Amino acid sequence: MRPNSQALKHKLSHDSEREFGGTLGAVCIPIFLPLTVLFLISLSRSPEASLFQWPPPLPSADQLWDPLAPVLLLGWFALHAVIYLMPLGKVSEGLVLRDGTRLKYPINGFHGLCIGGVFLMLLLGLGAPLGYLFELLLPLAVCAIAVSFLFSIYLYIRSFWAPSHALALGGNTGNPLYDFFIGRELNPRIGDFDLKYFCELRPGLIGWVVINLGMLMKEVELRGSPSLAMILVNSFQLLYVADALWNEEAVLTTMDIVHDGFGFMLVFGDLAWVPFTYGLQAAFLVVHPQALSSLKAAAIIALNGIGYYIFRQSNSQKNQFRRDPTHPSVTRLETIATATGKRLLVSGWWGLVRHPNYFGDLLMALAWSLPCGFSHLLPYFYVIYFTILLIHREARDERQCRAKYGLAWDTYCRRVPYRIFPYIY
Ligand code: NDP
Repeated sequence: MRPNSQALKHKLSHDSEREFGGTLGAVCIPIFLPLTVLFLISLSRSPEASLFQWPPPLPSADQLWDPLAPVLLLGWFALHAVIYLMPLGKVSEGLVLRDGTRLKYPINGFHGLCIGGVFLMLLLGLGAPLGYLFELLLPLAVCAIAVSFLFSIYLYIRSFWAPSHALALGGNTGNPLYDFFIGRELNPRIGDFDLKYFCELRPGLIGWVVINLGMLMKEVELRGSPSLAMILVNSFQLLYVADALWNEEAVLTTMDIVHDGFGFMLVFGDLAWVPFTYGLQAAFLVVHPQALSSLKAAAIIALNGIGYYIFRQSNSQKNQFRRDPTHPSVTRLETIATATGKRLLVSGWWGLVRHPNYFGDLLMALAWSLPCGFSHLLPYFYVIYFTILLIHREARDERQCRAKYGLAWDTYCRRVPYRIFPYIY
C-alpha cells in the first residue's frame, strides 16, 4: 500500500535522524573530514606516505596559507558561475516537486569543461607555471574548506525564508546541528541560479582534473616528462569527469538533487572533498614515481574500460527508463509494477545486481589506484573510501526505496538478491 505523504514525511524524517550517525555524526564529520583532507594531502607528499606513520606529517602554518589561493579559488568559482549563466546548451526540466512544479536547469556543464580547458591551454601557452598547484594544494584546500563552512552557514540561515514545500524531508528535524549538516532547503536558488546544481558537477569536479593537470606539470618540471602512471591517472579521471558533464542531465534524477537538502554534507563534498581527495593518486605520483610496464598498463586500461562500460550502460538504461519507459531501448526489459505507478526494472543491468552503476564505478576506482603500484596503501584510499561510501549509499537508497515502493521493493530484492557485487554482496 502506498503510504500517505504525511506518514512518508514522518517516516523519512524519523529514519533520517539516524543518517550519518545522527547528531553525533553531524558534529564530528564537519571537524573530522576537513582535517582528513589536510592530513591526506600532507601525507601524499611525505617521503614515507604511510597512513600509519607516527608522528603523522603535520603541515606547518606557513604551508597552509598563500594569498594566491583565495584569489584563484574565487576566480574559478566566478568563471564557472559566468559559464552557467551563458545561453549555451539546452535547458532541461527536473522531476516534479512536491508543489507540482518543475525547475529548469541549464545543461551546459560540458561547455564549462571545454571553456575551462581552453582557458588553461592559453595560460600554459603564456608560460603559466601550472605545476605550482602542487605547492598551492594545501592553501587551496584550506580555502575550499573555509568557503564550504561559510556557504553552508548562508544556506542554513536562508532556508528559514523558504516555504515549507521547498524543504528537504530529511533535513528538517528541528535539530540545528543535524539540519545544518544534512541541509534544510532542497533546491536553494538565487533567481534562476540553482546553487546545489551548480556545485554538484562544476567547480569541484572540473577543479579536480585541473589539479591533476597541475600534478602532471609538476612531474614534467621535476623529471622532464610525465610518467605513464601519471598519464593514466589523468586520462581515467578526465574521462570520468567529462562523462559526468556530458551526461549532466542525468544528475537531475539522482538522490543528491531529488532527495537531499543542500547543507554542509553536499557543499563540503562538492567543493572540498572531491577535488582534494579524489586525485590523491596524482599528488602521490609527483613524490613517489612508479615504473609501469606496457602490459600492466594495458590490463589497467582494460579494467577501467570494463568499469566504465558497466557504469555508463547501467546509468543510461535507468535514466532512459525513468524519462521515457516507452523508448524502444527499454521496452524489451522486464519490469514490475509498484503502487506509486512507477515500475522497477528487473532485467537488463538492473536485473544483474541492485546497483550495477556502483559496481562499474568501483571497478574504475580500482583502476585509478593500480598505476601507483603496491608499495603504499595511500593511493588506494579512494577505492577503499568509495567502497564504504557506496555500501552506505546503497543502504540509504534501499531504505528510501522500501519506504516508496513497499512490497514491490521486497519482490525486486527477491528477484535480484545481490546489491552491488554479483554473487558476492
Ligand atoms: P542511482 O542512480 O543508483 O539511483 C537510485 C535510484 O534509482 C533509486 O532511488 C530509484 O529511484 C531508482 N531505481 C533503483 N532501482 C531501480 C530499478 N530496478 N528500476 C528502476 N529504477 C530503479 O543513484 P546515485 O545518485 O546514488 O548514483 C548515480 C551515479 O553516481 C552512480 O553511478 C554512482 O556510482 C555515482 N556516484 C558517484 C559518486 C562519487 O563520489 N564519485 C557519489 C555518488 C554516486 P526512483 O525509483 O525514484 O527513480
